[in-house]
Amino acid sequence: MTATARGSRGPQGLRPPDPSDPPVDRPRRGRPPARNEIIRNGRLGGVEPETLATEFGTPLYAYDFDVIHRQVATLRAILPPAFELAYATKANPALAIVNHLGRLGLGADVASGGELEVATRAGISPGSIVFTGPGKRDDELAAAVGLGIRAITLESLGELARLERIAAAAGRIVPVLLRAAVPAAVGLERVRLVGDDGAGKFGMAEEDLERAARVALRSPQLDLLGLHAFGASNVVDADVIGDHVERTVDQATRLATRVGFRLRLVDVGGGLGIPYDLDDRSLDLAALGTRLEALAAGLASDPATREARILLEPGRFLVGPAGAYLARVVDRKSVDGTHVVVLDGGIHHVLRPVLVGQEHRIRVFGASAASSTRSFPVTIAGPLCSGLDILAAQAAMPVPAVGELVAVLDVGAYGYTESMPFFLSHPVPPEVAINAGQAALIRRRIEPGRWLEGQALPDWRIRQASRTGTGTNGRSPSVAGT
Ligand code: PLP
Repeated sequence: MTATARGSRGPQGLRPPDPSDPPVDRPRRGRPPARNEIIRNGRLGGVEPETLATEFGTPLYAYDFDVIHRQVATLRAILPPAFELAYATKANPALAIVNHLGRLGLGADVASGGELEVATRAGISPGSIVFTGPGKRDDELAAAVGLGIRAITLESLGELARLERIAAAAGRIVPVLLRAAVPAAVGLERVRLVGDDGAGKFGMAEEDLERAARVALRSPQLDLLGLHAFGASNVVDADVIGDHVERTVDQATRLATRVGFRLRLVDVGGGLGIPYDLDDRSLDLAALGTRLEALAAGLASDPATREARILLEPGRFLVGPAGAYLARVVDRKSVDGTHVVVLDGGIHHVLRPVLVGQEHRIRVFGASAASSTRSFPVTIAGPLCSGLDILAAQAAMPVPAVGELVAVLDVGAYGYTESMPFFLSHPVPPEVAINAGQAALIRRRIEPGRWLEGQALPDWRIRQASRTGTGTNGRSPSVAGT
C-alpha cells in the first residue's frame, strides 16, 4: 500500500492497531498502472524487495533502468528534430546511470569538474558535454578546454575573461554559450533546491549579456554559439515550460541579431517535473510537444535560426521515478495515537522531504501490508537524533512490523546525491541498478570505518617540540598520518 502524509491525522490512543479501529483513510490504490515507476505489483523493478534487502543490505537505493529508458523514449517521442537531450548529471551522478543515459544517446550537462569526470568516465563523448554553473574554477575550466567539450556556459564577464586566458594558454578555440539571468518576475514556479533566480548568482543581466556577446565575438579564443537559460525545477505545467523555451529562444534570436552572430545553440536548461504526492499531476507531454512543434516550425522558417539546435537538460524527469530508497523497520511504538515506526535509514540519505518540504510516497511491504485492509496514522522516522528525521508524518498506511521493509519512492533524482550521509556516522547506503529484472550493485555500502581511514589525529607533541627547538632534529614539524 502506498501513502503520503496527507489527510490522516486523528487521535487513535496509545495502543497497537485494533481490527475494530475505524479506518483513518481509505486504502490508497496508488497511481494508474500507466505510470512509469520502479514499483510494479509490489516489486521494485520486478525484484522482490526482500531479495534486494537480503542481497545488498538495508538501507539501500535501487534504480530501475527500464523506467529511465521509458522516460527517455516518451520525452523523445514529443521532441521536434531540432531538439536534443543532455542529461543533467547533478540529478543523479551514479556512474552506471550516466553511462545508461549515454548509451541511450544522450549528452550530459555537468556543473563541476567532478561531474565532468563522471560524464567522461561514463563514456559520454566530450562533444556531447556542456558545462554550466556558477563559480567554475580555473582548473575546472582548463579541464573542460583540454577535453574539447561541446560548450562552456559563461555566467559572467569575469568568467569570460578567465576562460579566454585559459583557452589562449592551451591554444584552443572554445565554443561558448552565454547564460541569461532569469529574473524573479518571469513567473516560473519556485523550488528552493535547484533553479530560480538564485539572488543573482546565475547568469548575466541583459546589458552584460550584450557586452559579453560583443567581447566573445571579437575574441580569437571563443566561438559564440548562443544562449543558455534555466528558470525552475520540477515544473509540471507544460505551458510554463513552453513559455520559458519560447522566451529563451526569442531572447537568443534578438541577441544574435543585435550583436551579429549566427545562432547555433540555445540551451533551455531542465526543469521538467514529476508528480511526487498521490494527488500531484503529471506533466502533459503531448501539450508540451505541441508547443515545441510550433516553436520549431518558426525557427525553421527563419534563415537566421534555421540551423539552431535547442538543447534540453532534464534531470529529475529522466531518473526521478526510477529510484526507491529501501529501509528496514528497527523499532515500533505508539505515541499519542500515532504509530511511530523507526527505520534503519532516514533523512541523512533522503534529505529532500525536509529540505524542500516535499512528502514522498511511502510503500510498506511484508505481511503487515499484505494482511491489512485498513490504514492507520503512522509516522515513519529515521534513526537520527533529530526531530527533523521524519520521512512521513501521520501518513495513512498499514503499520509495518519490526523487520519489515518500507520504500520511499521517486528518489532517483536529488536523492542519494543530495543526502547528508555523515551525520551520525551511519553507513552510506549502497546503490543497486535493476535492468530487465536483474539487480546489480553499482556503488557499494561505505562503512563509517572507511571515512575514518581518511582522518588523522594531529601529533601536537611534535609541533610543540619544534616550537621549543627540541625533538625534531631541525626538520619541519609534520602532522600524524601524513
Ligand atoms: N540544467 C541546469 C543548468 C541546472 O541547474 C539544473 C538543475 O539545477 C538542471 C539542468 C536540471 O534540472 P531538472 O532536474 O529540474 O531537470
